[in-house]
Formats: sequence, C-alpha cells, structure tokens
Amino acid sequence: MMVDQIADKVLAGGRVSADEALVLYRDAPTHLLGRLAEAIRDRKHPDRVVTYIIDRNVNYTNICVARCNFCAFYREVGASDGYVLGFEEIFRKIDETISVGGNQLLLKGGHNPDLPIQWYEDLFRAIKTRYPEFKLHALSPPEVLHISRINRLPTTEVIRRLVAAGLDSIPGGGAEMLVDRVRKLLNCYTKATADEWLDIMRQAHQAGLRTTATMMYGTVETDAERIEHMLRLRELQDETAGFTAFITWSYQPDHTEHGGFEATGVDYLRTLALARIVLDNFDNLQASWVTQGGKVGQLSLAFGANDMGSVMIEENVVRAAGASYCMDEVEIVHNVEDAGFTAKRRNMHYEVLGEPIFRQREVPRMLALATARADGDASVPEELKNYPARSRAGKQLRLVH
Ligand code: SF4
Repeated sequence: MMVDQIADKVLAGGRVSADEALVLYRDAPTHLLGRLAEAIRDRKHPDRVVTYIIDRNVNYTNICVARCNFCAFYREVGASDGYVLGFEEIFRKIDETISVGGNQLLLKGGHNPDLPIQWYEDLFRAIKTRYPEFKLHALSPPEVLHISRINRLPTTEVIRRLVAAGLDSIPGGGAEMLVDRVRKLLNCYTKATADEWLDIMRQAHQAGLRTTATMMYGTVETDAERIEHMLRLRELQDETAGFTAFITWSYQPDHTEHGGFEATGVDYLRTLALARIVLDNFDNLQASWVTQGGKVGQLSLAFGANDMGSVMIEENVVRAAGASYCMDEVEIVHNVEDAGFTAKRRNMHYEVLGEPIFRQREVPRMLALATARADGDASVPEELKNYPARSRAGKQLRLVH
C-alpha cells in the first residue's frame, strides 16, 4: 500500500500492519505523521486536556549486576560510589514530594544482589504505614525477575508478596527494545528477554496491577525492530488491557560503554507519532521532555502525546548519561497552555485529580533536579545490617557498619 492509502485507513480508524507501519515510518512526511497522530489523539481525548503527575523518581540503589552497555547510571558491587538509600532518606524524599503536591514515588534501582525480598517488603510496609494514601509505582519487570532469581521464588509469588506489602503499580522500565537480537547487543538479554519482560507484565496485569510500557530507541535497532517492539506491546494490550500508557525516549549516549550518538528531535517526534498510530489500544502517550527538553516536549502534543509525564523532582538515570532537563509544575502547565491545551493533574490511573496545585496554594518552586544522594555521601543505612548480603563486598560492608 502507498502512504496515502495507509493514511486514509488510519483516519478511518483502521489498524495498521507491520508492513504498513514501516511504509509510514520510512516514507510519510513528518507533518503527515503528526496529523495522523493528532487525529487519533483527538479521537481518544476530545476534551483537549493534557495531564501530568507530580511524583518523584527515586533510585533506591545504583549497584547493579546487569551491566547494560547503554547505562551510565550503574555501579559495580563494591564500588566506592555505590549506594543503597536508607528508609529515612526515602521518607524525607516522600515528605518533600508531598510538600509540592505529589502523591507517588516512581521507585526503581539497579539489580543489587545484596537486597533480599524482605528489604523491599519492609520498605513498602514502612512507607504505607507512614503515608497510607501515598502510591508506590515501583520495580520494573527486570527488577522483579532479579528479585525472583536471587530469592529463588516464582515471579508470580514475588508480585504477590510485593503487592501485599504495598506495591500499587509497575513502571514499564527495562523494556529498551523488545527484540532479543537487540537485547543481546545491548547486554540486556540476560536481565530479561523480550518474552520475560512481557510475561512479567502479563502476570502483573493478571494480578490486577496496571503498568506502563516504554521503549528506548536509537542504539542498534532497525526501523522494523522499533515497530516489532510496538506490535508486541499492542498484542499484550489486546490480551490484558493492563497498560495505562506508553512512553518512548531516545538513548542517551554520554558516559556509556556503548557510546554513539543521540537521535534527533525529528526522529523522536516521528517515533512518537508512529507509536500513536500503531498502539491504537493505548489511551495515553507521554511526552518525553526529560530527554528532549521542554520545547520538543511541547511539540509532542502535536505528535500524539496527551500527557506530560511527571513533574520531575529528582532524576538520576538519564542525567548520568547527559540529559538533565528540568521543569517544575509551573513550567509544565505553561508549556501545555501555550500549546492550546488545558492542563490537569492526574494519578497513575490517569484519573484527573484537579487543577494545577500552584494555582491553589503556595508551592515551593523546584528549578533544579534533586539527586538520589549528595555527591560524596557514602553513608550506609542503619537498617541494612538487618538483611543478609550475598556478595563478598556486601558482607564486608555489613560487618564494618
Ligand atoms: S539499565 Fe538498569 S539494569 Fe541495566 S545496568 Fe543500568 S541500572 Fe542496571
């Protein structure tokens, strides 16, 4: 089929095949991709509301045995700048999040061999005891798999126990590209294959959790593989309807083993628009302004996005690889309104919570992103010695402190 015929099919509400998606991606002019994506977005969100969430991205540890070659964030076991956050540090971050109107932590971390499942359960229970209404959007599928491996538990049991301890939903991290050829080249095949990532999401959906889905593009994949990734998500969404949103971002190359270059803003907008077209069973697409900057984030609203993601209070992962854009609620709302939309706060389920907080009460402006820990802070949390370590370095650390 030709571009025009496929465009007509999309405008009529038809579902594109892999081949049709590839023709659009390769041959359709950027303005046409934008127009198609916008038409779908308008059909799904005719009220012209653009949502965002106030939450905080907290990375509880940077120690990781997975060693993905596109990652600049992780530290080896025993590294002097490896850390595990203490429960009290995490409580302080929650207090700050609540003070700016936030209602959720996006809690993710490295695959630390020295944190048994009890550590996660105790942390979740402690958070829920102290902040009963606060939400935990935590642990990507590869982290769930890592916990299942080191504790020798089935992933369904890991999910069940974490939900019992307070897990509310699962972020779609660690998907990278759901194509095993690509995963092998990026050294993220052993942390989770494409099937394993999808299986854990399926299990989470079957357990009643909602999750998001992500895609990191711009490393070694082909255009057809980007589409394969989207189609695998579309297939699972047909089966479970458990994904609330899709988020895509470009690989950030600085300080990574893989190196290379960052994809352009135009590539981002074309990829986002294509995702809106292919993922016809996803209601929400986030604008990835943290990697693209506020202005491309704003342009995303003309390329299919209906959500500005998170008012970022803290970010550690893409910052380690060179991206460090920051917008607080005031700026996000201005970007949304300047593009002709109405901005509303939401929760993880995309239920609207209300108008911007800063219009209702005085909120401290956050113009710089916080980090997990101050530079040079190598403190070891008191409670860590209550949990058995597996690595030699972890055991040694518990003895010293
Ligand atoms: S991307 Fe995640 S799993 Fe991979 S090395 Fe970095 S922290 Fe570890």
